[in-house]
Order: sequence, then structure tokens, then C-alpha cells
Amino acid sequence: MKKINSILEKWDPIIGLEVHAQLSTKTKMFCGCINKYGDFPNKNTCPTCLGLPGALPVVNKIAIDYAIKLGLSVGSNITKFSRFARKNYFYPDLTKGYQISQYDEPICEGGKIIIRCNDQIKSIELTRIHLEEDAGKSIHSNNNLGTEVDFNRCGVPLVEIVSEPVIKSGEEAKSYLTRLKQILEYLDICDCNLEKGNLRCDANVSIRPKGQKEFGTKTELKNMNSFRGVERGINSEIERQAEILNNGGKINQVTLLWNEVDQVAEVMRSKEDAHDYRYFPDPDLVPISLEDNDIKKIKSDLIELPFDKEQRFVSEYKIPLKDALILSSDINLSIYYENSISEGANPKVAANWIIGEILSIVNESDLEISSFPISPKRFSELLDCLSLELINASTAKEVLRKMLINNFTAKEIIENENLAQVSDENQLSNVVKTIIKEYPEEVEKYKAGKKTLFGFFMGKVMQTLKGKSNPKILKNILIEILEN
Ligand code: ADP
Ligand code: ZN
Ligand code: MG
Repeated sequence: MKKINSILEKWDPIIGLEVHAQLSTKTKMFCGCINKYGDFPNKNTCPTCLGLPGALPVVNKIAIDYAIKLGLSVGSNITKFSRFARKNYFYPDLTKGYQISQYDEPICEGGKIIIRCNDQIKSIELTRIHLEEDAGKSIHSNNNLGTEVDFNRCGVPLVEIVSEPVIKSGEEAKSYLTRLKQILEYLDICDCNLEKGNLRCDANVSIRPKGQKEFGTKTELKNMNSFRGVERGINSEIERQAEILNNGGKINQVTLLWNEVDQVAEVMRSKEDAHDYRYFPDPDLVPISLEDNDIKKIKSDLIELPFDKEQRFVSEYKIPLKDALILSSDINLSIYYENSISEGANPKVAANWIIGEILSIVNESDLEISSFPISPKRFSELLDCLSLELINASTAKEVLRKMLINNFTAKEIIENENLAQVSDENQLSNVVKTIIKEYPEEVEKYKAGKKTLFGFFMGKVMQTLKGKSNPKILKNILIEILEN
């Protein structure tokens, strides 16, 4: 941290991200093979995705719709006419000898993603979003058989989201990825499982002397498999470049692999330029030609995105931003929250209970909020019992956990198990008087000024009432009796 701060006094880091997101279509990009992770190797392949001579690709329309959906959501211009191009290179996991991608005619141009980083809002402009196909996967097994290749992933649809060089730190890159993941999940177009490689990020990093207009030479950092890894990788690359330049050296345009175990970036190869790929329009595929109506239809189905939802939750429900960020982080959580409000729950109380209790239950038990056993209706009935002071907060927590394992309403549980709190003033003051008689010494000390003993008396009374007392009424009675 200290190191990076002293670097930032002299150098201005510039970062642009290229994110690949696998689209969760049923079938692959250019053939009818199933798009599924984890199947037996090479099970989901055909002549087209294996690149056998003579096999012809056909575009998956759903993948195009998904790319348009994403583009519209981030304010890109959807191009009416776009084209696929061949990106030629040789690698064992790419049988055709080229990857079908988009080059100078991508489906989406421009757009922006609004991020929050260190309490600041920042807009990260996008260069483009284009469609392409994934390559197969080389498996470097340790059984002395050498490298094996699984082509199940070959031809899986990808969108590549390219940002402008406007990101300034590893932290900002992480916030950008977090937001992008949220958007992809909201739109339900990518599974976003980093371990399965659904979402992958390459970072372009350069630094320039502060105040200089021209960019420095950039390097490309690959192989980070967590958002934390992206953050650390970028920050370490900024440090590496600063050290070279501070010592009078020069940056080579290279591709580096991030080694998470040793926390260092290792040079993989000198970076190719676009012309190395000999891009040309794919003659096997017709261009994508869109009508106004194709786009309009997708636009009309768009949903509210996380940034808008966060702001609406704050203004409409008067909850703190910090809570709004949590409740809108996951679309199903936001739906649960708003459904409980529709069922009559108080927005602030519901927010506290969902963030405090329900999320900890969800996390403890590996449940999904979308299939949470307590419906928003039952949850809001529980909050009713609390606001009617039928039970106190600690009993409500107990009842909530009981509701997980049966289908009773909160009221039924309270009645069946005799959990209603005592609010009757006579009954409460009788208990208080009994307790006070039992602890004359403590009463003396209290009266002599040791007010901290108040909690002791509260505790004793609560214990006698098995926690089922109305704390507000009890408190008043206790004060009155102790002070007189
Ligand atoms: P390339 O042709 O090397 O792939 P692009 O111009 O396509 O480069 O940009 C790829 C990514 O690199 C984009 O996200 C872009 O914002 C970023 N980028 C471009 N120039 C720089 C730079 N000097 N420093 C950091 N990132 C950069
Ligand atoms: Zn296939
Ligand atoms: Mg590029």
C-alpha cells in the first residue's frame, strides 16, 4: 500500500479491461451442440465445432439477442449491420486454425458501466461489445500422457466487453468487474461462475509520468481467476512497471501470466498486434442484419439495473445506501425485499431483518434466496407480530428459525409454543418487585449511584420471564420501582 502510494506521486496508471463472458445459451454459437460445463470430455462436439472440413457454421440467434440485451442495458449503440471475422492463429485447442470473432464491425459500440469505488461514483466507458466463440480447453494432466484437449467448450458463445483505458487502479478494476457481473446476472445471460471460467478478465496496464498526455507502453495481464486476483495482479504490474521506469529501463509490450500462488506476473510471450491475426470477414457466415423491431422488442423487455435500483431503494424506502447496495446486489434478494414490502412489511424493518437475520441463515445453510423456505408473506407476518409487540426481537429471531422447518405462520408458532411476550403491567411489576427483594445489596448500590446495575436487574427479570417480556414496558416499570 505504502509502495503504491509513493508510485502514484510520480506515475499515472492506465488500465483497460477485456472481459470474456460465456453466454448461458442452451446450445453453442454456431452449431446445435449442448453448451454445458462439466460433461465428459468431447461429448458435446460435432463436425462444426471440431472444425472438420466442409462443416458450415450457423449463427445462434439467442446469443445475438443476449448481446443486444447487454448492449442496450449499458447504453451501447447496437449496430444494425455487423459481421463475423476470422481471427487466425494456431493453438491445439482451436482445431479450425481460427476463432470466429468480430473485428471492425462489432454488434455493440460504446456504452458505459457505472461503478462505485471507495464511496465514489465513476463512469467507465466501453469501447465495444462483440460476439465470438470460445476455444477448447487444454488439460495438462500429470499422468505422463502429455496434454489432452477437451473440445466441449469449443464454440461456446462469448461476449467480449472491452473498456476504454480509463480505469486507474486495481481497486477500480475490481469494482468494475463486480458491477459487470451483477449486470450479467440481472440479465440472466451468463452464469458468472469464475471457477468454471464463465467470466474471464484480461487487464491492459500502462503507466505514464503524471501530467503527460500520451499513454505509456502497455502490457497485458492474463490468468487472474478471481476479482481479488485481478486487483492484486494489476497493482503488482503497476509496481513492476514503475520499478523498471524508475531505473531508467523501458517497458516491453508483452503478455504476462498472473501467478496467484507466488503473487507475481510472469512473461508469457511478446504481445501480438492485430495484424498478426490476419483478420478477414468469415465467408461462411452472412452478416448480422437487424431491423428496428428486433431491437425494440428486446428493449421493451429490459429490467431495472442494479445502479438504478440502489438509488431507488434509497429514495423510495429511505434506507441507508449501504443497505440498498446489499439488497440490490442480487436480483432475487431485491425481489424478496420488495415482495415483503408489498405484503405489508415496513421497508426499514424488513431491510434490517433481511440483511441481519435472513442473509445469515442463507449463508450458513447454503440456501438460495430464490428458494428460501419462508415466503415474503410469512416473513412480513412475523414482522407484524413484532410491530404489534406480540413478541420481542429476540423471540422473533427464534420464531424465524422455527418457521424454516415448518409451514406455520408466525402467529401460530407464537400461540402453539406460548411465546407471546408479557406486556401486562401488573404482571411485570409483580415480577420486578420479587426480584428486587431478592437483591437488596444491589438495590442499595444502584441507589447510591451505580446505574450500570440496571442491566443486571433487566437481565434477572427477563430470565424469570424466559425472555418473553416487552422490553419497553419492562424498562419503564423497572426504572419507576428502582427510583422510588
Ligand atoms: P490491442 O490492439 O493491443 O488489443 P486495443 O486498442 O484493442 O489494443 O485495446 C485493448 C484494451 O487495452 C482496451 O481495453 C483498451 O482500453 C486498453 N488499452 C489501450 N491502450 C492502453 C494503454 N496504453 N494502457 C492501458 N490500457 C490500454
Ligand atoms: Zn458442435
Ligand atoms: Mg484488441
